[in-house]
Amino acid sequence: MSRPRVLITGGAGFLGSHLCERFLAEDYEVFCMDNLITGDLANTEHLVGDPRFHFLHQDVTEYIHVPGKLDVVMHFASPASPIDYLELPIQTLKVGSLGTHKALGLAHAKGARFLLASTSECYGDPLVHPQREDYWGNVNPVGPRGVYDEAKRFAEAMTMGYHRYHNVETRIVRIFNTYGPRMRMNDGRALPAFMGQALRGEPLTVFGDGSQTRSFCYVDDLVEGIWRLLQSDEALPVNIGNPHEMTILEFAQNVLELTGSKSEIVFKDLPVDDPKIRQPDIGKAKALLDWEPKIPLETGLERTLAYFRTKVQPEG
Ligand code: UDP
Repeated sequence: MSRPRVLITGGAGFLGSHLCERFLAEDYEVFCMDNLITGDLANTEHLVGDPRFHFLHQDVTEYIHVPGKLDVVMHFASPASPIDYLELPIQTLKVGSLGTHKALGLAHAKGARFLLASTSECYGDPLVHPQREDYWGNVNPVGPRGVYDEAKRFAEAMTMGYHRYHNVETRIVRIFNTYGPRMRMNDGRALPAFMGQALRGEPLTVFGDGSQTRSFCYVDDLVEGIWRLLQSDEALPVNIGNPHEMTILEFAQNVLELTGSKSEIVFKDLPVDDPKIRQPDIGKAKALLDWEPKIPLETGLERTLAYFRTKVQPEG
């Protein structure tokens, strides 16, 4: 029997590349699609010799073609950091809307199962804490993050439309802050910023007074949760993230401690609409998927630091 085949859009990105590895480990034939505007071929170059791995340089917002059968479509293409949304607002809107439409259309045509990478940004600056899947959110449609948040909310609506009208087997994962090797170095996110700054001996830039909270999940835990969701029969959104919540100031201090850096912390303006609090309620994932994160922050940070050390030239 021929092996199952998966298309991963955004496959050369941070999460996409980890998914490519997971599907290869499950003995899938993997079609990794990316237009490389924020993805990077370096993330998948170690997979290139594998005859089961194929790279497709295509933009998912255009007509996409994948020859032969497909069993699964994983739609992970999107700029995904606040700086990227500011620099690429139209592409962000297009990949969430037109790109999701194309990826769903392909899944429908091939009879494939479809999984949408959605986001905790659907909850905006949340008025409910921790965030459960049945909370509808507090999103500013016209702020700088609106291009991402609304595109992903539209993508969820589109996914449910294909599920209800075309009976496509769909899954929606709401991903909370995730970190690990292959995060993009200069995308403005807290973790690459702090690690880069600490390794170069520069001050760590904490935005606002650092009292805003986030809950960081190590990428391997996230991938396991996504894998289990794909195998389940739940079409409604499921949060996957680590409920271990901390302030951004504490997070910066963790990075300083781990790296042994002597850098100081400096405070910068808080970006517009930066959510004040964020923590996933993972009760649904626990009950439905028997999943919860396993990797402690310290372990995850150490593994991530080992990666960033290979990318950053220390001062001097
Ligand atoms: N942040 C920070 N310094 C930086 C980059 C980010 O203090 O150099 C803050 C940012 O304002 C936010 C938190 O860290 O409150 C997490 O930011 P990130 O961009 O990683 O993710 P998101 O805002 O999408 O959760």
